[in-house]
Amino acid sequence: MDNVHTHTWDPERHISAATRAEADRSRGRPMDLTVDFDRFMAEEANFYDKTIVFGLKAKRTGFWVPDAYVAEFVGRAPDKLVGFAACDPTQEGALDDLRHGVEELGLAGLKMAPMYAGFDPRDPRCDPIYAYCQEHGLPILFHTGTTFAQNAPLAYTRPWLFDELGFRYPELRMVLAHVGHPFCEECLVVIRKHPHVYADISALFYRPWQFYNMLITAQEYHVTNKLLFGTDYPFAKAAESIAGLRNANHIVGDSGLPHVTDATIDGILNRNIVQTLGIRL
Ligand SMILES: [Zn+2]
Repeated sequence: MDNVHTHTWDPERHISAATRAEADRSRGRPMDLTVDFDRFMAEEANFYDKTIVFGLKAKRTGFWVPDAYVAEFVGRAPDKLVGFAACDPTQEGALDDLRHGVEELGLAGLKMAPMYAGFDPRDPRCDPIYAYCQEHGLPILFHTGTTFAQNAPLAYTRPWLFDELGFRYPELRMVLAHVGHPFCEECLVVIRKHPHVYADISALFYRPWQFYNMLITAQEYHVTNKLLFGTDYPFAKAAESIAGLRNANHIVGDSGLPHVTDATIDGILNRNIVQTLGIRL
């Protein structure tokens, strides 16, 4: 199995103090956002064939992880880790940075966070970025769904905004993170329409009612084949995320409510994400 959504950063250097303080809202308890390479390899990476790792660039909310930092992190275990660049198109030189990340540092995809950086994903400033990614076969993983960060506008995070990108960039591989929570149904109908738009299930299992309903709805719309496994490490870890998916039915028991099928669960856990997204290693 692969993991499409993990972070690396040095919180002290790469995340503002205000945003670090707000992160406790993400799980309703104090969060340690430290990512230590040796611990990550010992406790997380061994669950997966390949782990996709990225930072985050979003000036507005105080995230700025240099691509070189990500490249150095994944370069220590190149057989296991796949690095993505990050991009904040509100900042000067975003395309040049991306070219450098791909062509010089060997990063294989892109992470963007419209809400955290404060841009509409349909903003014309993004077009050179999207065109470059489509041309070079680089998938883009977008944060979608809500956040703990007060200054991140929810207006830019709704999954339906990406429908238009699906028309304009039909060959661009896109992943909508967190199935757009809590707008999961909206996300599922977007990924249903566009052959190359996917969603990742990271950081959802700990809201079991929402998670269960999302999986049932995905079955009913026949889009479970577009769901990719991820953890959003360090916000959630491998073992608890896998167990959460395997136990998705525990809240309904024998109530007569529909069950998430083994085929759905196994399909998500066994998906070869690198191949699915056409990532060139
Ligand atoms: Zn994330």
